[in-house]
Amino acid sequence: MQEPQSEGEEVKLIFELLDADHSGKIDVEELKHVLLGLSSWTEKEVEGLIEEFDKNKDGELSIVEFWSWVNGHDGRSTEMYRPALLDMAVAENKRKVSETEERLAVFHEKRAAEEAKAAKEAQRQAEREQGLILSRDAFVKAKMEAGFSKAVAEELYRKCDQDKDGEVNHQDIGWLVSDNLATLDQVKATYQKGIQKEAEEISWSEDWKAEVGKLLKRRGFKEEEEGLKYHATSASGESIELKEILKDKTATLDSKHFPISLHMQASNVTVVDCDDKGLGQLVETFLAWDKDGDGTVSSEELKDVLQQVNPKFTEVTLNKMMGEIDVNGDGVIDLQEFVSWLSGENLKKKKMKKKAKEEQDAKISFTLHRKRADEAKDLKKADQFMSAMAKDVKEFCLSKKIEFSCGTLNPGSNANCSACGGRHSWVCHGCGFVSFFRNCVNDCDGYGWSCINGKCPKKKCGCKKKPDFWQRSGFTSTIQRISLDLEHLVLSAQSST
Ligand SMILES: [Zn+2]
Ligand SMILES: [Zn+2]
Ligand SMILES: [Zn+2]
Repeated sequence: MQEPQSEGEEVKLIFELLDADHSGKIDVEELKHVLLGLSSWTEKEVEGLIEEFDKNKDGELSIVEFWSWVNGHDGRSTEMYRPALLDMAVAENKRKVSETEERLAVFHEKRAAEEAKAAKEAQRQAEREQGLILSRDAFVKAKMEAGFSKAVAEELYRKCDQDKDGEVNHQDIGWLVSDNLATLDQVKATYQKGIQKEAEEISWSEDWKAEVGKLLKRRGFKEEEEGLKYHATSASGESIELKEILKDKTATLDSKHFPISLHMQASNVTVVDCDDKGLGQLVETFLAWDKDGDGTVSSEELKDVLQQVNPKFTEVTLNKMMGEIDVNGDGVIDLQEFVSWLSGENLKKKKMKKKAKEEQDAKISFTLHRKRADEAKDLKKADQFMSAMAKDVKEFCLSKKIEFSCGTLNPGSNANCSACGGRHSWVCHGCGFVSFFRNCVNDCDGYGWSCINGKCPKKKCGCKKKPDFWQRSGFTSTIQRISLDLEHLVLSAQSST
């Protein structure tokens, strides 16, 4: 009710104006409070008014008693007060109404916001249940299962969770993938990042520069005369010196221009340049791909990996990647093909030098053997593991013309043979390498060893060769064999005897 529509409403409004405590009756104080504000009233007149109209003598005016006063009892004029009171009452009423409306509006707004929030949370919950939202841990775990290093998996997560709320949805992941894992080269570079030494070791290839150029173009930067390689300008006139980006090798432009880290893109690496950590990760990546542990990555296994890396990849991408890595075309990827691919070797015209290749293989062999030896130790299957490798040791000795005369398995790392009492040529159980010295060529400590020959047979003994020869070619098994998981290794030894 804004404007009173009848006399009854008018009187009710004025009554409500005067009845400040909402008791349903107007006492003398309430009446004075309003009427004395109107210029012509005196205290006496107000008191006289109550006296005259308070028929039941309770000291207050009921609505009925008030009615006869305000409507001009006995034909008296109300001109002196009624219009003024009505104006006040209407104004007061309007104020109350608009105050209520304001309060209501605020209330509705608040409720709408709460409802929207609840709806969003319900949607998220539904997405979570459908596996469309991943927590940080789930994301990192899934990426590591696809063979990315922990650091790379965490870096990918940071790129993905732009609003930093601790979880990512399929949209976040879509952005991540289209910026970082859209092409096989990007996928490869991301895997490479896991095995590389720190960033300052990375050199920036032309390929990479071209990649940055493409990226800037996609983000609305226009090609300049000098070409994207050196200079780019955005629609809003911002200008980027690519040389500057390339020089300091950091992603200072990151948050300002695009949500990617430029240092994600890396150049090819060689395994020989890897440190132990990188080498360990190289092996871990391969083992993560080879889910069934049979020593090779099948097309099916690679398909699972690619699905995890970028769900948009199709059969075409899979076949392309398979073709790129499976150089000998036998339909599976072995560890050496994997290493060549990741180090960019199978793309180069020039083959790796024989010595460098041997060094690379030796490093991989050592890393894998050490991993298997540690696993076997943890599972209390060290003896089984060493027996499984024993046949390889004999074949190795035969091929290298090393006299095999003892074969005793000795526990501990630095003692003499319990059978022949010597320690001249022996195989370390930690790394699988032959040694002609007191200590293992790979500095293993705390593993057992197998005696080959306790003393020097002199004629054609391996100890005549230089130590670095055995560091390169002293592995007593093969990469193919040691790529098998423990279970497959033991089985393969049983089936061949
Ligand atoms: Zn011996
Ligand atoms: Zn060793
Ligand atoms: Zn010797």
